[in-house]
Amino acid sequence: MTTQLQELLDSNRLWARKMEATRPGFFTGLLQQQAPQYLWIGCADSRVPANELVDLAPGELFVHRNVANVVVHSDLNCLSVIQFATDVLQIKHIIVVGHSNCGGVAAALEDRRVGVADNWIRHVQDVRNRHHAFLETVAADERVNALCELNVVEQALNACQTTIVMDAWQRGQELVVHGWVYRLHNGLLKDLTMTAASLDEVMPAYERALALVHERYAPAKAA
Ligand SMILES: [Zn+2]
Repeated sequence: MTTQLQELLDSNRLWARKMEATRPGFFTGLLQQQAPQYLWIGCADSRVPANELVDLAPGELFVHRNVANVVVHSDLNCLSVIQFATDVLQIKHIIVVGHSNCGGVAAALEDRRVGVADNWIRHVQDVRNRHHAFLETVAADERVNALCELNVVEQALNACQTTIVMDAWQRGQELVVHGWVYRLHNGLLKDLTMTAASLDEVMPAYERALALVHERYAPAKAA
């Protein structure tokens, strides 16, 4: 087994050289400041690399990732990222991004014990329990993806309800919260329309996004 990870360091050297060749002064330019427009709150899953999916360069996307893209009202880690992005960087968009076949969501759905993360995934189980009646109507093989989408809608709602976002809206700052899901099988992002640019828009957006999830995963109607 290698102890040096030389291949990663070599790849990094090549990447930096390529970036500098295509965009001379790229790195020294970033030294001065970062001015991203977007905050991405996504899953830690290695198949969902934030910058790559939306083809953004270093400096263009502020990122927070955790297991199952959860926004917990008392999570100082996530709240600190949202606060810095909103108040200091003045980003314009917060995007909560889930993904299909999420392992954290599947564990929550199936009550599977995975270790210390059980306590974290408990937040996704709260989502499952809230939508239990609907999930029961969804075909068993689609239930994980339905819960992935419901989880995005609920976590985006949580983001809207942080004091940071509410204060920003209160003082008239331009800030839009979004909920998206990334489909592993085709590499495409889908907008779940949980989109709010003010406090008034939050609940209508939440209801609309939930209705669309229900529609997408409704059992096929008998002819
Ligand atoms: Zn995941």
